[in-house]
Amino acid sequence: MRTIDDLDVAGRRVLVRADLNVPLKDGAITDDGRIRASLPTIEALRARGAKVIVCAHLGRPKGEVKPEFSLAPVAARLGELLGADVAFASDVVGDSARAAAENLADGGVALLENLRFEPGETSKDDAERGAFADRLAALAEIYVGDGFGAVHRRHASVYDVPRRLPHAAGGLIAAEVEVLRKLTEDVARPYAVALGGSKVSDKLGVIDNLLGKADRILIGGGMVFTFLKAQGHEVGKSLLEEDQLDTVRAYLRRAEEAGVEFVLPVDIVAATAFAADADHAVVAADAIPADRLGLDIGPESGKLFAARLADARTVFWNGPMGVFEMEPYSHGTRAVAQGLIDSGAFTVVGGGDSAAAVRQLGFDEAAFSHISTGGGASLEYLEGKTLPGLQALED
Ligand code: ADP
Ligand code: MG
Repeated sequence: MRTIDDLDVAGRRVLVRADLNVPLKDGAITDDGRIRASLPTIEALRARGAKVIVCAHLGRPKGEVKPEFSLAPVAARLGELLGADVAFASDVVGDSARAAAENLADGGVALLENLRFEPGETSKDDAERGAFADRLAALAEIYVGDGFGAVHRRHASVYDVPRRLPHAAGGLIAAEVEVLRKLTEDVARPYAVALGGSKVSDKLGVIDNLLGKADRILIGGGMVFTFLKAQGHEVGKSLLEEDQLDTVRAYLRRAEEAGVEFVLPVDIVAATAFAADADHAVVAADAIPADRLGLDIGPESGKLFAARLADARTVFWNGPMGVFEMEPYSHGTRAVAQGLIDSGAFTVVGGGDSAAAVRQLGFDEAAFSHISTGGGASLEYLEGKTLPGLQALED
């Protein structure tokens, strides 16, 4: 894969596909981690005299212009972080975008409006996507793929534009790929994987593939209740995916055959409602009261999980262990994050919410070997799938 070091960019218009899909609340950015992560590539290109045109998506406006998904606040924050003006185009490939691209000075930066305001960006129809890709590609002379969080999507800005322009991987994608290789080739063992988050169905593919690769799989978060139920336990009103019970049972059996250790929580923080101020108590994992819902792994489980991480040499963690957004249910996630740090292993955190949890709980990001900016993308890579955005950069 070519990197930006292999490109001659001075005085040329470079389209950078970044991942700037930050969480917003009432129009304000609540976590600017992804903007920060995209800075090194943008700064390197500027320093070499490129005219940098950044494009990205925000949320799911589904091909329509929806002001609440405008990238305008991101343009402002990007400008602050770069310490430079960022020209914001009020459309994606229209007059405003063309003017912004044409008016750039060497070293200048422009940001286009949300790619997903255009139906062509995500279209399943190759011709419709291609027509949009033509217009996007026409804004620039070179393409740099740096939006790791989107490389698993066959979208115009990810897959079709690099096939129309000379291209290279930005620093973020290059770094992510290097890390993911360490999780799939010549892995240092023991290799432990901690999985949490809300839905089992999101993570089935990765569990499937990891059953042949990891030594231990620790399960927490909302998905744990499908596992507990599969073992025949009451889970009360906790998150449950009934339709995945058979699959989960098959995984538990396969793990036993393959000698992969599944580590499930022994206690659960069970609350009367999905609320920070709800009555809550620590209960045994096999005795969740029928009128309660599990919102975190319990303190004994936190200790158990940390102990099962302590001697690992490689750890991949995806998905919070509980509803960390509410303080009473954040302790399991804290224990696992601390367990990763204390293990001294090569530690990778994947997933937008997991990365946000690390920051929200006050951990030093540098204490982890790598925090991935792309949850879905890193999971699909670990599932063993071909990622369209990486494939396009490699060709
Ligand atoms: P990531 O973005 O790191 O891949 P996910 O998107 O899969 O993680 O899941 C994150 C969400 O899972 C968080 O918002 C968290 O509140 C939720 N979650 C974790 N544990 C539970 C639980 N026990 N019940 C309901 N939701 C949960
Ligand atoms: Mg998430």
